[in-house]
Amino acid sequence: MLVSAKEMLQKAKEGKYAVGQFNINNLEWTKAILQTAQELNSPVILGVSEGAGKYMAGYKTIVGMVNGMIEGLGITVPVALHLDHGSYEGCLKCVEAGFSSIMFDGSHYPIEENVAKTRELVKICEEKGMSLEAEVGSIGGEEDGVVGAGECADPMECKMVADLGVTMLAAGIGNIHGKYPENWQGLSFETLEAISAQTKDMPLVLHGGTGIPADMIKKAISLGVAKINVNTECQLAFAEATRKYIEAGKDLEGKGFDPRKLLAPGAEAIKETVKEKMELFGSVNKA
Ligand SMILES: [Zn+2]
Repeated sequence: MLVSAKEMLQKAKEGKYAVGQFNINNLEWTKAILQTAQELNSPVILGVSEGAGKYMAGYKTIVGMVNGMIEGLGITVPVALHLDHGSYEGCLKCVEAGFSSIMFDGSHYPIEENVAKTRELVKICEEKGMSLEAEVGSIGGEEDGVVGAGECADPMECKMVADLGVTMLAAGIGNIHGKYPENWQGLSFETLEAISAQTKDMPLVLHGGTGIPADMIKKAISLGVAKINVNTECQLAFAEATRKYIEAGKDLEGKGFDPRKLLAPGAEAIKETVKEKMELFGSVNKA
């Protein structure tokens, strides 16, 4: 059964570790992530962007697949199914489809409008027992065609949004989506400390987990980050393993063209990446 991300993130914040959000793209992705979480006895959040939602034929398809997989694979660790960077309309669709968690990305609205829309969604999520992530200050890089500039969030705006009753808060601290450029300045721990001081017990979310050095991840967790989003890294691992398989000509040997064989190295690579991240984030054996 899907659960809200509230309890797992409050425990993570208290215990000074972080729960990984791993974005899914298809059945293989979802299965690899769920199996790894179960094997490592770790809570997990499955992230779905609106683009991935469309790709997988809609949110109801995803809810059906994930619920079926939890039963079929005997998954007993806490699993939250979460909309990543949702629009207001996208959030409502996921509530209806049976997601257990949503992110409303109102960062591109003026703060007053972000607050008004977030307030509406807080009410809905409370009624449904769902968790809600809000974002303050845009996160750099590209996500589904939307390019953000990678600013640092204003700690007072963070407090204002946290006080609305959201479950977790994403705040820009110099992090970006996708691969980090060579001249990246690193995370702003000064900003993170100021946000933590204002938002107290609120689990903070670090987007763009791909390519942030391990020591910065650990420091961010020590300063209140309790959820870290990983997307690009699984994609890179999947693509590399699949390319190797084909370049080695394995699809031409015997029944190597069978999709169950062709996609297996990529799925294994995702498992390996998820395992590394869960170990780094400290969520192993915290289910
Ligand atoms: Zn993000």
